[in-house]
Amino acid sequence: MSRYRVRSIPETIAHAVRTSLRSPQYGHPAHMEMAAGYGPCRLCLRTFELGVEQRLLFTYQPFTDPAALPAPGPVFIHRDPCEPYDAPVFPETLRPLPLVVEGYGEAGALVAQRRVGDLRVESVLEQVLEYSEVRYAHLRNADAGCFIARVDRETGLV
Ligand SMILES: [Zn+2]
Repeated sequence: MSRYRVRSIPETIAHAVRTSLRSPQYGHPAHMEMAAGYGPCRLCLRTFELGVEQRLLFTYQPFTDPAALPAPGPVFIHRDPCEPYDAPVFPETLRPLPLVVEGYGEAGALVAQRRVGDLRVESVLEQVLEYSEVRYAHLRNADAGCFIARVDRETGLV
């Protein structure tokens, strides 16, 4: 049993983007296109089928701590409904991607930043969550820098 939970962006955010075609947090217009890159979709955390799936690009701010410095950036989701990811298992669909794990503490302060590279992502996640100051972690793309998913400690198992 892992000690953490990988979570996508909230389904309410994805639903709002799909219906309003705007960023729910910023109001900027969302951009719809045929997938020209792997993504992944920030709701189901699957990579896009290039040239087959429609996707929406919008501005997303991943910090939920109001004391954290906001970090808005571009993310993609599927145009069509898909299932949010929320599980105590690292999603296999993300394993091939270049990843960075960032552990954040009080007020969104960056405590630890680790590139996964050739390491097993699970061990990197465990390493970052070992820091007692770390409250949660973000997965980011190690090349593009953009936010991919959030990782929380599994409650009751710490
Ligand atoms: Zn999706």
